[in-house]
Amino acid sequence: MSQAIRVTVWNEFIHEKSNDTVALHYPHGIHVTLGDALHKHLAEQVTVRFATLDEPEHGLSAEVLGQTDVLIWWGHAAHDRVADAVVDRVQQRVLEGMGLIALHSAHASKIFQRLMGTGCMLRWREAAELERVWVVDPSHPIAAGIGDEYFEIPQTEMYGEFFDIPTPEELVFISWFEGGEVFRSGCTFKRGKGKVFYFRPGHETYPVYHHAMVRRVIANAVQWARPQGGVYRGEAINVPEGMG
Ligand code: ZN
Repeated sequence: MSQAIRVTVWNEFIHEKSNDTVALHYPHGIHVTLGDALHKHLAEQVTVRFATLDEPEHGLSAEVLGQTDVLIWWGHAAHDRVADAVVDRVQQRVLEGMGLIALHSAHASKIFQRLMGTGCMLRWREAAELERVWVVDPSHPIAAGIGDEYFEIPQTEMYGEFFDIPTPEELVFISWFEGGEVFRSGCTFKRGKGKVFYFRPGHETYPVYHHAMVRRVIANAVQWARPQGGVYRGEAINVPEGMG
C-alpha cells in the first residue's frame, strides 16, 4: 500500500472569529471542515494537519513544510499579513514537488500571485447567486465522480472573467453565474516539480465547503497534487540480451 498523503490545511482563520454567519457555517474554522472532508473521502489514504496565520511562522515552519505533500490554502482578509519569508519557503517547497491547492479568495494570496507571476485579479459580486460548475474535462482525475455535466451551488459569491492568470495547463471546470458571468473555476498549473490547482468555490458566508461535490473535488485534487517522485518499487525491467 502506498504511503498516506500528508496534507496541511492552512487557513487565515479570521472571519470565523469575527462574523456570526461564518461562525455558524464553520464553528471550528474552515480548515477543520476541509479536514473532515478529506478524512471522509480519503480515510486512511491521508493524514491532515492544520496551520493558521496567528501561529509562529503561520504554522508553516520548514519542518512542517518538509513533512507536507499537499498544502491547501484559504485566505481572504489578511493576505498582506503573511510574511514574505514564509511565502518564499512555500514557493521553494512547491518547486521541489509539494502540491498546492489554492481555494477561492486565495487567488489574491501572495503565494498564488508569486507562483502565477500575474495580478490574479477578477470581477466579483456578492449577491447570493446560483453557480453552475461545468465539467469541461470529464476524464481529468480532479473531476472523478462529478459526472460529465455540471453541479450547482445554490447561493454563492460571483467571480467573473477576466481572471488575470497565465493560461492554465488544464481547465477542469468553468462556472456560469445567474448574473451572466463565466469564470475559469478549476485550473491546473505546474511549477518546478510541483502541481498547483486553483478551485474557485468557497466564499466564507455561504456553506460551500459542506457541498458534497465541492468536497469531492478538493479530495480528488489532493490525490492529483501529491508529489509523483519517489522510487519505483514494482517489477524489475527485463532488458533483452544484447540490448543492455
Ligand atoms: Zn469570497
